[in-house]
Amino acid sequence: MTFGNDKQAITHRERLVVIGNGMAGCRAVEEILARDPGRYAIAIFGAEPRVNYNRIMLSPVLAGEKAFDDIVINSAEWYAQNGIELIAGDPVEQIDRATQTVIARSGRVEPYDRLLIATGSDPFIIPVPGRKLPGVVTFRDLDDVDRMLAAAEKGGSAVVIGGGLLGLEAAHGLSLRGMAVTVIHLMPTLMERQLDEAAGWLLKAELERRGQTILTGADTAEIIGKDGPDGECVAGVRLKDGREIAADIVVMAVGIRPATALAKAAGLDVERGIMVDDHMITSDPAIMAVGECVQHRGTCYGLVAPLWDMCRALAGHATGAPSGYTGSVTSTKLKVSGIDLFSAGDFSGGEGAEDIVMRDAARGAYKRVIVRDGKLVGAVLYGDTADGSWYFDLLRKGEDVSAIRDALIFGQAFASGGALADPNAAVAALSDDAEICGCNGVSKATVVATIRQGACSLDAVRSQCKASASCGSCTGLVESLLRLTLGDEIEAGPKTLCKCTSFSHDDVRRLILEKELKAIPQVLQELHWSTADGCSSCRPALNYYLLCAWPGEYEDDQQSRFVNERLHANIQKDGTYSVVPRMWGGITSPQELRAIADVVEKYDAPMVKVTGGQRLDIFGIRKEDLPAVWADLNAAGMVSGHAYGKSLRTVKTCVGSEWCRFGTQDSTGLGVKIERMTWGSWMPHKFKIAVSGCPRNCAEATIKDFGVVCVDSGYELHVGGNGGIKVRATDLLCKVATEEEALEVCAAFVQLYREQAHYLERTAPWIERVGLAAVKAGLFDDPGAVRRLAARFRHSQQFMQDDPWARRAAGEDAELHRHLAEVRPMEFAQ
Ligand SMILES: Cc1cc2nc3c(=O)[nH]c(=O)nc-3n(C[C@H](O)[C@H](O)[C@H](O)COP(=O)(O)OP(=O)(O)OC[C@H]3O[C@@H](n4cnc5c(N)ncnc54)[C@H](O)[C@@H]3O)c2cc1C
Ligand code: SF4
Repeated sequence: MTFGNDKQAITHRERLVVIGNGMAGCRAVEEILARDPGRYAIAIFGAEPRVNYNRIMLSPVLAGEKAFDDIVINSAEWYAQNGIELIAGDPVEQIDRATQTVIARSGRVEPYDRLLIATGSDPFIIPVPGRKLPGVVTFRDLDDVDRMLAAAEKGGSAVVIGGGLLGLEAAHGLSLRGMAVTVIHLMPTLMERQLDEAAGWLLKAELERRGQTILTGADTAEIIGKDGPDGECVAGVRLKDGREIAADIVVMAVGIRPATALAKAAGLDVERGIMVDDHMITSDPAIMAVGECVQHRGTCYGLVAPLWDMCRALAGHATGAPSGYTGSVTSTKLKVSGIDLFSAGDFSGGEGAEDIVMRDAARGAYKRVIVRDGKLVGAVLYGDTADGSWYFDLLRKGEDVSAIRDALIFGQAFASGGALADPNAAVAALSDDAEICGCNGVSKATVVATIRQGACSLDAVRSQCKASASCGSCTGLVESLLRLTLGDEIEAGPKTLCKCTSFSHDDVRRLILEKELKAIPQVLQELHWSTADGCSSCRPALNYYLLCAWPGEYEDDQQSRFVNERLHANIQKDGTYSVVPRMWGGITSPQELRAIADVVEKYDAPMVKVTGGQRLDIFGIRKEDLPAVWADLNAAGMVSGHAYGKSLRTVKTCVGSEWCRFGTQDSTGLGVKIERMTWGSWMPHKFKIAVSGCPRNCAEATIKDFGVVCVDSGYELHVGGNGGIKVRATDLLCKVATEEEALEVCAAFVQLYREQAHYLERTAPWIERVGLAAVKAGLFDDPGAVRRLAARFRHSQQFMQDDPWARRAAGEDAELHRHLAEVRPMEFAQ
């Protein structure tokens, strides 16, 4: 099968023949073309009968998250446009260095001036009896995926031998395809080359929770066969301890070996891999090699990131501008939806190494960084990988981290003293050569240059420099770079929930209910998300939509919340926190004031401020003091004021008829009742309420999301006000005669907003989008609507009104850990 150029063109220029149409071979050609497009007549031989694709995305293809077309890197048009002849499905079987020719399986003989070997790796097959039985497969190319999919279609069970990155991604895919999966791993913990024992244990627990059987310390003795309709086939695996596990398919994913057979037979220097120098030249100056098949300075790599640097060095040499490759530091991410895992560098410890560990087993989060001689040498993150790029950048640069050593474990925002709590600022602080997209080897400088050259949307960046075009885990970083580089000129995409899906917010909310989707991974899977784990835009939205749809059933995913919501406090510019206890309706007591004063003195808080919502905000609390501050405030009967959340903030009141001579109703009393009814409820955005005792409106009820203005004959209920950047006065919703009716309509309106607004949409833009008439119709057209909406709100509130501070008072420490997230004190282990 050939695509592209005709033989004629190949004979006129220097002939470059590439063996291996994979990730390294094609990237090397791309780099050469970018430097000197006319220099070579290029022919590429590929053993696989197809164009070049992103091999690392085979896992999402197996899991059903991507189709083959989505993962093609170089289409047939690319070969044609660049005058490249692709000879696909015809492996090279011999290199004749004397005649400078290669001979393919078809008998085709191709002369070369320069030869590039990019044959990748061969999967390692453990030499046990039964390894050749039909039904035993490896995981290296699309044909392997097709074999696994064919087995999964029939159902049954699968055994995956190997609990490393490949094995676990194969197990995840087969499990999502409906097979009962057992993973057999020789070592005591999973992914032991990338993860330490603690993270390996967390990973195992999570996979078991998802229904996989994980056998560690398990040594395969034999693959057992049975008679099938077409002869003998696989029946299962026998372990050395005698256990037998039945299987309809056995996937061998125990490792890879550089594919060196051709080079060895041609007499090139080969050890574990094909020996190359810093310009990727083999022991024959006319032959270069690149990718997983090479050994450079004693190292063979099994990940894509080193390939990009190797290919740049190779192209420099091949086009007469040599630069040189000195080796790579690598990092790993596991592409299993819902499992955030990052590992980089050396975590073996050793002499002089200092471990800094933070763990939160209840929340399933674990972080470990290793410092040696003042430099970061390794990082293992499980459960929260947001700082992976930052750690990796520090590690690659070998920067001195002594000055930020104590804050290092808390990540970039903390280490910068809070100045980088904003994710945009954190991305701005990354160096130009920091790697943004690991799948495609794209640096920050390249993304920024692409944006400056006119790529004004995520899609444009994806198509022009490939950043975020593969696994999607760097989408948040690319979005931040777009915001930083373009400000307001950023082009809004179509009105989809985010770039990971073509569904709108409304579609997603509807489908969550229709399909009874009750977990984020299930939504991503069932609604065919384009990314394995979603992104920083969709995960918080999905978490909210699921909480709203399934109160009491869906378990809040703390990892999908914004940082202030995870910390239950507002981080300030200097890295300290502000704490706002709730004061119902703005009323306080000597006991509460005393408790607040005691906290201020005891924890040396530099400022207490009355907020616009009539609460007391205690500033300058150190993160390590937060739990104790909360406990002290709790002891005085106070709960969290949720001053940080997409939730009810405050109910502001005036003194009303009890004290004011103009007052028409008990506005403070009603405000207290409303706050007790609505506190703790998660909403699409922050929500503010006020109650004024007469139309003089001292509580400013007409710029709140829900405002009550008391009048002689009852209560005017107002909605959709906003006092922020864009001030908007409320619309009058209705007038009611009694307090009970006011409470009922308030509950119904809040629930309508919760059920219908898009995540991060305040009531003002929501009402402007759908129209006041639609909101009124939703509440009043059907006489039972208010009652039903209010009932749904009250039902949901049973599960929402749990104060994280009160949990501590009740001694539920495990729960507290979930809520405290990163603010738990550090645990140092030497
Ligand atoms: C399922 C899977 C998931 C992965 N996930 C990740 C990940 O998340 N992160 C990461 O960094 N890396 C990952 N990798 C590893 C990554 O894919 C490799 O590092 C990368 O593909 C190596 O590129 P390469 O060009 O050296 O080899 P390949 O991409 O394998 O290309 C080699 C090509 O050469 C062809 N070939 C071999 N011999 C001949 C011959 N004699 N004649 C003609 N053609 C020949 C092969 O058929 C193949 O197409 C994953 C790999 C797999 C299989
Ligand atoms: S709003 Fe009316 S009732 Fe309330 S304090 Fe002001 S004047 Fe008095």
